[in-house]
Amino acid sequence: MLTTEVENFPGFPDGIMGPDLMIKFREQAERFGARIENVDATWVDFSTSPFTVRTHDDDFHARTVIVATGASARWLYVPGEERLRGRGVSTCATCDGAFFREKHIVVVGGGDSAMEEALFLTRFGRKVTVIHRREGLRASKIMAERVRSHPKIDFIWNTVVDEVLGDTHVRALRLRNVHDDSSMEYEADALFVAIGHTPNTGIFEGQLDLDEAGYIVSPDGSSTNVEGVFVAGDVNDLRYKQAVTAAGAGCKAAMDAERYLEAIEFVVTQAAP
Ligand code: NAP
Repeated sequence: MLTTEVENFPGFPDGIMGPDLMIKFREQAERFGARIENVDATWVDFSTSPFTVRTHDDDFHARTVIVATGASARWLYVPGEERLRGRGVSTCATCDGAFFREKHIVVVGGGDSAMEEALFLTRFGRKVTVIHRREGLRASKIMAERVRSHPKIDFIWNTVVDEVLGDTHVRALRLRNVHDDSSMEYEADALFVAIGHTPNTGIFEGQLDLDEAGYIVSPDGSSTNVEGVFVAGDVNDLRYKQAVTAAGAGCKAAMDAERYLEAIEFVVTQAAP
């Protein structure tokens, strides 16, 4: 929902903006009768069937649940970062980039997210600097090349941000070279943190098996340790994290959930007098 241009989703040869793709997904699901509630799930009970998913106002009961809660952007957890959030520090270029017209913008990270943020921010910034903790980029070749050849973007390698400086808004960053430990103050008007994601699994702790990074464990890519609860997308995918792989996982989970429902219906019908 927060991504900008999606270049690698099949069926869109010219690319498509993330939010536009989401609208199309939604319309397609609704055409087949899906009812969509825009509410936060705050608590679940998967110990008895039907399962319960609680929101602020309601309890939803279901014989099967597909968990697709995704993953959230990570922060650096350095001094000044939290205090200056919304005052120059952000994890969302789409949301906050336009506030920094003709400014010097720093992006931290070396993956596709960082490249995507950097490219998007060139629409607004006078200059965009990518700061990465080592010399090689983790990003895909196409994204890395696009960023490397962009006239508005430059790189600072082997460097981490130790502190965000400024009173009412970001004024500078304290940078440290990881090789020689030298430190310097570096003027910047904004800091976009793009260093990966943490899975959104807090409400499933104690009910679904999680790995040490917090991702839901699935023995075969869709089922969980609770029969009838399935999983799809980034919440169980440390490795690929693409819209197309998440969509494929959603399809698998939906088919498995449907088969599960058919099987329990069959058992109930057989048991009926
Ligand atoms: P990622 O690939 O895990 O990259 C995270 C980057 O942040 C790495 O370069 C990492 O450095 C750096 N990093 C991590 N923790 C750090 C810290 N504490 N301080 C400084 N740097 C830190 O995450 P991502 O970029 O969010 O991408 C995740 C997945 O989504 C990938 O599979 C990617 O292909 C996909 N994605 C795709 C698109 C697209 O196709 N349009 C867009 C966005 C994301 P190291 O390299 O040294 O580990």
